[in-house]
Amino acid sequence: MSNTDNWMRTIGKPLIIAGPCSAETEEQMMETAARIDPSYVQAFRAGIWKPRTKPNSFEGVGAIGLKWLLRVKQEFGFKTAVEVANSKHVKLALDHDVDILWIGARTTVNPFTVQEIAEALRDTDKTVMVKNPVNPDLELWIGAVERLQGQNIKNIAAVHRGFSTYKKTKYRNNPQWQIAFDFMNRMPDIPMICDPSHICGNREGIAETAQLAFNFEYDGLIIETHCNPDCALSDAKQQITPERLTEILKELELRKSDDEDAVYHSNLTRLRGEIDETDQMIIDSISQRMIISAQIGELKKEHNVAIFQAERWNQIRQKAVERGAKLGLSEEFIDKLLKAIHQESINHQNLIMNKNHISSE
Ligand code: PEP
Ligand code: MN
Repeated sequence: MSNTDNWMRTIGKPLIIAGPCSAETEEQMMETAARIDPSYVQAFRAGIWKPRTKPNSFEGVGAIGLKWLLRVKQEFGFKTAVEVANSKHVKLALDHDVDILWIGARTTVNPFTVQEIAEALRDTDKTVMVKNPVNPDLELWIGAVERLQGQNIKNIAAVHRGFSTYKKTKYRNNPQWQIAFDFMNRMPDIPMICDPSHICGNREGIAETAQLAFNFEYDGLIIETHCNPDCALSDAKQQITPERLTEILKELELRKSDDEDAVYHSNLTRLRGEIDETDQMIIDSISQRMIISAQIGELKKEHNVAIFQAERWNQIRQKAVERGAKLGLSEEFIDKLLKAIHQESINHQNLIMNKNHISSE
């Protein structure tokens, strides 16, 4: 994930953005900013126009909040960051000298709006960040970035804030890290910022998620920080105090992309060799399993028994989950792995039987 054309890497340290989910009052903004440690944080965020799931919730203070942001910039020297959701927002933000404009997760899903924002920002030197869309759609995320690039905007960053799921998980928005990794592979010159606040939806998980992001060599963090989180008008559960933020940032370990040390390199080469060998073994075992499964398919076909056997599937699953738990593998992972193997197995059996029969082995 390291590269030389990533414009943010030239700054030499991760970009840390902190500040409240929403601007609420001038006092709240000034107090929060006063308590944020500028030796760790470069930019101050605040939502002015808030996209809320339900009507009649707090929808932001509107343009007056931009005046408070400007005051934060003048008195504390932070760069300022705000969400924009249409060209009117862009104009107001630029009029108030906002440094970083971001496109929110609910806006990234809409190409018309992204295009409108991109055109309103044509040729800008400001930093423009694109949050991942709420749904796990890599192309939509990349498409939004391409719309900005199409308007000659150079300082673009992506923000990984996780993806919504119908089923409740321990996250408010499931990170699905692989999607962010795919983004980084496809767009290696676009810096990646992690938003642990919206991923976690609670205060407890923020430090761990932020550290994961640095382990994956992300370029920065955006963390919701409020002078009195319990009384926040939006996202109260996930906001932390400025003091807690400093504690978290102090403890984070930054990872380098490489190290010259010869012993490190030889150990890494050895371990990577072991990983490659293990991966081969996994593939070989899965292939072996498919061969057995195909034989079962033949047997069932002969005996005209070719229906999905839920009981057998539950047994397989249960055994694997128990074994996995003993070995430190999560139930979620075992579930995904087995479902993928089972699906491949069904595909193989269907090919062999050349009918639409499904067997659960
Ligand atoms: C926010 O940053 O406060 C916000 C609304 O985020 P998202 O667009 O990721 O939901
Ligand atoms: Mn928020």
